[in-house]
Amino acid sequence: MDLYEHQARELFAEHGIAVPRAEVTDSPKEAREIARRLGGRAVVKAQVKTGGRGKAGGVGLAADPAAAELTARRILGMDINGHTVRTVMLAQPVDIESEFYVSYVLDRGAGCFLAIASAEGGTEIEEVAARRPDAVTRIPIDPAQGVTPAKAGEIVAAAGLPSQAVDVLVRLWRVLVREDALLVEVNPLARTPQDRLIALDGKVTLDDNASFRQARWGGTAAGPDDPLEAAAAAKGLHYVKLDGEVGVIGNGAGLVMSTLDVVAGCGARPADFLDIGGGASAGVMADGLALVLSDPAVKSVLVNIFGGITACDAVAEGIVRALDTVRLTKPLVVRLDGNNAARGRAILDEHPHPLVEQATTMDSAARRAARLATAA
Ligand code: GDP
Ligand code: MN
Repeated sequence: MDLYEHQARELFAEHGIAVPRAEVTDSPKEAREIARRLGGRAVVKAQVKTGGRGKAGGVGLAADPAAAELTARRILGMDINGHTVRTVMLAQPVDIESEFYVSYVLDRGAGCFLAIASAEGGTEIEEVAARRPDAVTRIPIDPAQGVTPAKAGEIVAAAGLPSQAVDVLVRLWRVLVREDALLVEVNPLARTPQDRLIALDGKVTLDDNASFRQARWGGTAAGPDDPLEAAAAAKGLHYVKLDGEVGVIGNGAGLVMSTLDVVAGCGARPADFLDIGGGASAGVMADGLALVLSDPAVKSVLVNIFGGITACDAVAEGIVRALDTVRLTKPLVVRLDGNNAARGRAILDEHPHPLVEQATTMDSAARRAARLATAA
C-alpha cells in the first residue's frame, strides 16, 4: 500500500528527518487559514498516490493566503494520471539551493535492499537516470546489516551528497524497518542556503503482509487504492483491475488467468481479473457482474465458467438475477461448460436478452468478446 505524501512526511518527522511545517485540507477556504498559520506564503500540493505532480500542475507556490485559496481551488478536483485530487497539503515554502534524491527499495531479484541516490534530484530524476545512469548511485544493502553510519557514508561519498545526508540516510533506513516499508523515497531532499537538508517530498510503500502490525494505517489507508478494487474487496470478490476493455469473469484463478491470455491472443486486452471462486453462488455472480459492468473502460464482458463444484445452472441463475437488478449496457458473452452445462445454457435460453449471447468453447467466446469490444 502506498501512503500519501502527508503520511510519509509524518513518518519522516517521527524518525527525526527534517520536514517543512504543513497541514492537509479538502477545502479552499481552510487552505487560506492554513496559509495564514504558516506565515502567509505556502506551497500547495495535490495529495494523490502518483508521481509527477509538479509537472502536471499539481504543485503551486502561493504568495499569500488569498492566493493559497485560489491555488487550492484550482488543484482540488484535478485529475493527475487518472487520480482525482481530493485533498491538498499546504507546506511552508523552503528556499532550495540544490535538490538530491535518496531512496531505499526492495530488490526482489537480488534478495536485498538497494540504496539509490543522486546529487541531481528533483522532478527530472527519471530523465537523469535514463540519459546518464552514472549520475544515479545504486548500492546494495544487506538487510541483516542495515544502513549504519559507515554504510550511509559510503552512499554519500559515492553519490556526491553533502555530509549531513549521512544522518538522513540512517534515519530513513529506520523508517523503512520500523514502518515495514518496501520503498522509502525522498525527492527532493533539499539543501537550503543555510546548508540544512529538508525532505520536501516523500513516498512510502508499506508491505501489505505486515499490515497486521501497522494498525495506524488500518481502516482509512489500508486496502486497495483503485475504487473498483475497493468495491470488490468490500463484497469479498477476488478482483484485480487491468487496463483493457474486455471484462473477464470466471471461476477459479487458473481458468481466469488462462482466459486473460486467450483474450489477449484474440487481439483485445482484458479489463480485469475476477474469480468468482469454486463454490460461487448466484449472488456472487450477480455482484461480480454488477462490478465489472460498472467499470467505464469495459466494452464487452466474457463470462467463462467451467462447472465443477460451481454448477453451471447456479451461474446461469446468477446471470439472470443480475440482469434483473443491473441494466446491461454492454454485450455479454457466456461460455458454460462442465457440471450442469446443459441446464445452465437452457436457463439462459429461457431468459433471452438482446445483449447476451452464448458460446460453446473458450476460444470462440473470447474471439466474440474481443470482437464486440473492439467494434464498440
Ligand atoms: P512531485 O512532482 O510529485 O515529485 O512533487 P514534489 O513535491 O517533489 O514537488 C515538485 C517540485 O516542486 C520539487 O522538485 C521542487 O522543485 C518544487 N518544490 C516543492 N516544494 C517546494 C518548496 O518548498 N520550495 C521551493 N522553492 N520549491 C518547492
Ligand atoms: Mn517529488
